[in-house]
Amino acid sequence: MIQIQAVTHFLTGILIQIICFIYFPIPLAILLTIILAILSHFIVDSAAKATYHTSEPHRDDKFWVAWMYISMGITMAFVIWVIVIRMFWFFFLGGFFSILVDIIDWGIIRTIQNKRKNNQKSYWEQGHFFHILIDKIRDKMPPFSWLPNWNYEKKGVIVEIITITLLWTLTGYFLGIFLALS
Ligand SMILES: [Zn+2]
Repeated sequence: MIQIQAVTHFLTGILIQIICFIYFPIPLAILLTIILAILSHFIVDSAAKATYHTSEPHRDDKFWVAWMYISMGITMAFVIWVIVIRMFWFFFLGGFFSILVDIIDWGIIRTIQNKRKNNQKSYWEQGHFFHILIDKIRDKMPPFSWLPNWNYEKKGVIVEIITITLLWTLTGYFLGIFLALS
């Protein structure tokens, strides 16, 4: 269920970007968006501890399958929304940097790792470099360490739905302010 978490990452990155562009002049707004969107990845991934994300597919579980389809629906609705309001290129900045950590860990490092069939892998090449750190944050650092682990609890979808609804509403609200100002 990677894609539903991607929507949460994108919405967080976009919301950060819009707020930065409302309150700061252009060069600073871009720089702040980049820094804060990258940092937001660590927060969203760590908070995802309280949401339903099984690490392996459960295809014979009706709930898992239903949630997979609902997640796909939400993801598609999000993509259509971005295209309809013609914000794709503007949102690219916050959106891209909100998932940069995943691109590095799952894209680049894993590719390097798969190419070298070498048993003596360095720390960097064991894969998921940043996500090793994220696992430590979610387990040891408050407030994340205080969160319940609901990765296998169905009620975790409620947390996810509330989070996305809240982020999407705030994004729409601040986008309205931003567009009125520009
Ligand atoms: Zn991640």
